[in-house]
Amino acid sequence: KKLGIALVGLGRYSSGQLAPALQETQYCYLSGIVTGSPEKEPKWMKKYNIPKKNVYNYDNFDSIAENPDIDIIYIVLPNGMHAEYTIRAAKAGKHVICEKPMATSVADAEAMIRACAENNVMLSLGYRLHFEPHHLRVMQLGQKKVFGPVESIKGIDNMVINNWEWRLDKELAGGGPLMDLGIYTIQGACYTMGEWPVEVVEANYGKVTKPELFKEVEQSITFTLKFPNGTQSTHTTSYADQGNLLEASARDGWWKLSPAYSYSGINGETSEGPMDIQNVNQQARQMDYFAQCVMDNKPILVPGDMGLRDVKIMMAVYEAADSGKSVKLDLSGLDIPKY
Ligand code: NAD
Repeated sequence: KKLGIALVGLGRYSSGQLAPALQETQYCYLSGIVTGSPEKEPKWMKKYNIPKKNVYNYDNFDSIAENPDIDIIYIVLPNGMHAEYTIRAAKAGKHVICEKPMATSVADAEAMIRACAENNVMLSLGYRLHFEPHHLRVMQLGQKKVFGPVESIKGIDNMVINNWEWRLDKELAGGGPLMDLGIYTIQGACYTMGEWPVEVVEANYGKVTKPELFKEVEQSITFTLKFPNGTQSTHTTSYADQGNLLEASARDGWWKLSPAYSYSGINGETSEGPMDIQNVNQQARQMDYFAQCVMDNKPILVPGDMGLRDVKIMMAVYEAADSGKSVKLDLSGLDIPKY
C-alpha cells in the first residue's frame, strides 16, 4: 500500500518539485490538495487524477480528518502560516511534513511539536538534503573524521529577488534570506559536525542596496557559529547576490559542495578529487523515507525538534545582529537522533 499525501499550498515548490516528485515515489502518492485558489482545482485534479472528494480549501480543511485517502499532510505555505496549518493537520489526526523554516518563532515551533505529540502523529520537516547523497557523504566525512577533525566550515546560500513577494513580508516570512536560505548553511554546519552550535559569535546585516524591496526583512546577513569543540563555521546569505557553497577544512584534507543546495546538479570535490556521486530526486527520497517511518512506526531522522533547533539558532543570529553582541545557545534537551 502507498500512503496518501495532501499538499497544502499549491505554489512554486508544490507545483514545480513536490507534485512531480510524488510521481516517482514508491511508498506514497499525491492523493489530495488543499488550496485557497479555486481556479487551481480543475487543473490539478486532471493532471494528477485527484478526485473531487480529496480537494479542500482553507475553510473546510479540518474535515480532512474524515478522509481515509489522506495519511500525511504536507504544509507548503508561507512560513508564517506553518504553525496554524501544522496544528490543524495534527488535530485532524494526520501525520505532518512541514516545509522549512518550521516556524517564525520558537513558541510556534514548540506549539507545533506539542500538537503533534498530543495527537499522536509524526512530524517532519522538508529538509530534503538529509536524503541527498553528496550531503550524506559530507556527514560521513565530517562526523567520522575521515580527514581528521573538522577545523572550519563555510556556507553560502544566496538568491536574487527582484520583485515583491511574501518572502519580503516580515509577518509571512519571519525574516529574510536567513530564514529561507541561510537555514541550509546552518543545517550543513550541524551535520558536518554532528553537533549543534553553542554560540553565535557574531552576526552582521549587510548593506541594503535595494531599499524598495528590503523594508521589512534583511537583504543579507553574515554570521559565525561556534561548536562545542571550538570549531567555527562562517555563513553568508543574501537575496541580492549569487553563491551556493558548503565547504569544510579538516586537519588532513578538505571537501566542498558547489552548488551545494540546488534540487539537482550538486557537485562535490574533496582534497583527493571529485566525489563522483549521482544526483537523485531529493524530494521523492525525502517523502518516501517519511512514509516508511509512518508505515513502520520508526523514529524519524529529521524530527520536529530539528526544526525547533534551527529556529532557535536563527533567532539567536538575529539577536546577535541586532545587539552587536555574541549570543550563547542552549540547545540541550532536544530529541534529535545522531546522524
Ligand atoms: P510560493 O509563493 O510559490 O507559494 C506559496 C503558496 O501559498 C501559494 O500557492 C499561495 O497561493 C499560498 N498562500 C496562501 N496564503 C498566502 C498568503 N497570505 N500570501 C502568500 N501566499 C499565500 O512559495 P514557495 O516557494 O512554494 O514556498 C512555500 C513554502 O515552501 C515556504 O515555506 C518555503 O520556505 C518552502 N520551500 C521549500 C523549498 C525546499 O527546497 N525545501 C523550496 C522552496 C520553498
